[in-house]
Amino acid sequence: MRIEELKTPCYVIDEKQLKKNLSILQKVEKDTGCKILLAQKAFSCFYEYPLIGQYISGTTASGLFEARLGKEEMGKENHVFAPAYKEEDVKELVKICDHMVFNSFSQLEKYKNFCKETSVGIRINPECSTQGDHAIYDPCAKGSRLGVTIAHFKEQFTDEMYDYVDGLHFHTLCEQNADDLAKTLEAVEEKFGSYLYKMKWLNFGGGHHITRADYDIGLLEKCILHMKEKYDLDIYLEPGEAIALNAGYLATTVMDVVDNDIQTLILDASAACHMPDVLEMPYRPPLRSSGMPEEKKYTYRLSSYTCLAGDIIGDYSFDEEKKVDDRLYFEDMAIYSMVKNNTFNGIPLPDIAVMDESGECKVIRSFSYEDFKGRLS
Ligand SMILES: *Cc1c(COP(=O)(O)O)cnc(C)c1O
Repeated sequence: MRIEELKTPCYVIDEKQLKKNLSILQKVEKDTGCKILLAQKAFSCFYEYPLIGQYISGTTASGLFEARLGKEEMGKENHVFAPAYKEEDVKELVKICDHMVFNSFSQLEKYKNFCKETSVGIRINPECSTQGDHAIYDPCAKGSRLGVTIAHFKEQFTDEMYDYVDGLHFHTLCEQNADDLAKTLEAVEEKFGSYLYKMKWLNFGGGHHITRADYDIGLLEKCILHMKEKYDLDIYLEPGEAIALNAGYLATTVMDVVDNDIQTLILDASAACHMPDVLEMPYRPPLRSSGMPEEKKYTYRLSSYTCLAGDIIGDYSFDEEKKVDDRLYFEDMAIYSMVKNNTFNGIPLPDIAVMDESGECKVIRSFSYEDFKGRLS
């Protein structure tokens, strides 16, 4: 089946682009000896886990469910970080995770005795904000609950803890280049450097946009090798976005055209239901064969058939007039889409399809009324 023949709405995973991204990441592993893990919270399309596992070292999770998925479907190195854990979850997690990262010394003390076979780490907050415009994604913002600051680390870390704490973890970047990583590492070294000599590993977290065209891979590799060699550490990176960047589309169909001062296309896809980051981040998603408003001859506002007035995807222009039953393709829709969608308004969930390197598409999952009803009672 070709992409034009898929029933809409439908997410389409582009395996050609996915493999291109994975080859870049695999080369970083080969060049530096670091380990790269898929952060499943961005992309949990487990159909592709066997493929992803051929290129990178494993998975990381935000809690028990993702950790189980990584174990079941990829079965390679499996890590977990959560701001807090429940005891019943920890009992399961230690059986399926190689690394467990704690967000505080109280969580560490509570659960350290469960972690006999699991390597334990502490998440630190290097207090080095590098992202200006996305405050909700900045774990270094003042008062952040994510990670231990050096002031608290000094108070609470004791030498005996080297017996059971193997590593440190930081995650402070979001869609950033290697210069921001270099800057963050300077802060990490300045504040936590003296502890790193006695650790076994350091995890650089996610947010590295490694597979973006302008990403400075040379500088990333320099950063990894510097930390690895100076402190004799195993280095981990856990990107989410970079794995499936630009590796998916959301196919949608025009259901109606409403002309009320502004021409609005009513689509069978929704920002609120199927692309929540469009409203949450917020951002204007790329759309195939379109321009900025007024750039091309016909400008439209793209919206949905939900009842939310603000369910607006953005304003776009086209060379041709748009009509009912025309199809549109949103781009870069593999990441933070399927993992975040919902059935608000009883809107159906998009199917999931994969497109192979020849452009041939296959639906791997479709959803129905039962999926809407099944999570309500
Ligand atoms: C979100 C997150 C990631 C992945 O981030 P991306 O921006 O998708 O690369 C990795 N690690 C942790 C702890 C996270 O919270």
